[in-house]
Amino acid sequence: MESIITLEPVFKEKIWGGRKLETEFGYQIPDGPVGECWAISAHPNGDCTITSGEYAGKTLSWLWDVHRELFGNEGGDRFPLLIKIIDAKDDLSIQVHPDDAYAAEHENGSLGKRECWYVLSAEEGGSIIVGQRAHSREEFAQMVEEGRWSDLLNELPIKTGDFFQIDPGTVHAIKGGTVILESQQSSDVTYRVYDYDRKQDDGTLRPLHMQQALDVIDFEQVPPTSGAIDLGDAPVAQLESNSCYTVELVRVGEDGCPSALTMPTPYPFTCVSVVEGEGTCCGMPVKKGSHLLALSACDELAFEGAMTVVTSHL
Ligand code: ZN
Repeated sequence: MESIITLEPVFKEKIWGGRKLETEFGYQIPDGPVGECWAISAHPNGDCTITSGEYAGKTLSWLWDVHRELFGNEGGDRFPLLIKIIDAKDDLSIQVHPDDAYAAEHENGSLGKRECWYVLSAEEGGSIIVGQRAHSREEFAQMVEEGRWSDLLNELPIKTGDFFQIDPGTVHAIKGGTVILESQQSSDVTYRVYDYDRKQDDGTLRPLHMQQALDVIDFEQVPPTSGAIDLGDAPVAQLESNSCYTVELVRVGEDGCPSALTMPTPYPFTCVSVVEGEGTCCGMPVKKGSHLLALSACDELAFEGAMTVVTSHL
């Protein structure tokens, strides 16, 4: 049975995107500002094509629909996760995502969007917006109306290696100069609160969605004060675990961690993204920018080399 597959990423042109997906990750990308690499995705807006093994040429959504046994017969009508690299040359819009219940009702049965960010690189003095300070819809709407953005938004300094969990209802924005690995629910529903009055090439503004944003913002949430994480000495550090996903950071041959490591993967599937360095995974050569999808037949991941890897599973 097929145990590990590779996929062809889908690239997304964005007004805030840059060229680092080519210059730093070596992907062949389209011309223009490219903001996102959908590396492991079965979402209809970017369904990756399989590039290895007996299912080469088929899409990941096809594999999920037709060969569920490869995913341990996991339930659900869609492959549930989406792994992206985001190159923000400029600021992304101030935005918020709905939870599953709101998205199911208002967005044609879509999943909500819970996401998390591992910061791959950040400019000196870089920052990020996670959370806001209004206590009610009325207060939020008024602060937006008055343009009191710095009072309203919780802006934090960031550095390489920071990690942020973004629950549905959290107002957030990735700022320019930042490259991030995003692990998220397979959803493309974003409610924009503010887009800096930026014009697209055709002179129009991207739409805002203030009413939906006010519906979904979690006004009880306390904004974080830092994205710093303590990895400890162990080669495998859990970054986040919730009802949608568990995300782990794996260090191989770095920071005093051994150059060979085996990790059990008793899951329906495991997403594997190499974010720094190079080596092998189950004997396959991998390097920064490589993504693999380990299927349920893969009982363990054997890493060798000098690299940093982010994994995610249900
Ligand atoms: Zn988001």
